[in-house]
Amino acid sequence: MEQRRAGVNKNTDWANAIHYDNRKPNYVIIHHTSQNSTAQTVRTFQLAHTKVSSHYVIGRDGQVIQMLNDYDRAWHAGKSKWGTITDMNSVSLGIELDNNGREPFPETQINSLLVLLDTLKSKYLIPQLNFIGHADIAPTRKDDPNVNFPWKILAEKGFGVWYNEDFLPEPPTAFNPTDALKIIGYDMSNPEAAIRAFKRKFIRTEVNGVLTARDRAVLYDLYRKYY
Ligand SMILES: [Zn+2]
Repeated sequence: MEQRRAGVNKNTDWANAIHYDNRKPNYVIIHHTSQNSTAQTVRTFQLAHTKVSSHYVIGRDGQVIQMLNDYDRAWHAGKSKWGTITDMNSVSLGIELDNNGREPFPETQINSLLVLLDTLKSKYLIPQLNFIGHADIAPTRKDDPNVNFPWKILAEKGFGVWYNEDFLPEPPTAFNPTDALKIIGYDMSNPEAAIRAFKRKFIRTEVNGVLTARDRAVLYDLYRKYY
């Protein structure tokens, strides 16, 4: 009730509209917890001082724990930007995968994630391009999910994007990688950080701030395929 009162502007008149419902999440942000167990993560999200939370936590064993209603605004994205959106927490669901930040993600855990993503995608009509990682929206601060996260498997199921590994087209000379990254959604105020996030996700080796000729071809393929 507190929030409903806070949302009413005292400087305007009020006439009650009758047709409305709750705003729906339109993005899914995937994280790794950087912790050692699901129990530890759940505890972290329940401590008063941490000021962090997410809608779902998925264990290495595939257990899915929901911690907030999908319609509530979790505190998982922090300071972040994607395209022109500067308040990702307001438009997204947060999913935390129990992972110490360096290890691979077990198949059981990914299978549970895929089932959950399928439910969320159809329930809220979330576009394929809107399944992204924390590092995508906060490239200077975050590196999750780590380099082992199987974005390719997700893209094959309709969550997020991947490129054609068998044939990479030569980008035209006019192709501008900075513009392409920006159109995809990356905040280019720190180009090196954005390129690092891109490479961690799609290239997975030599995660640095420099695009090789092949990296540019991967970027061009994604760009012409989806954007
Ligand atoms: Zn995160």
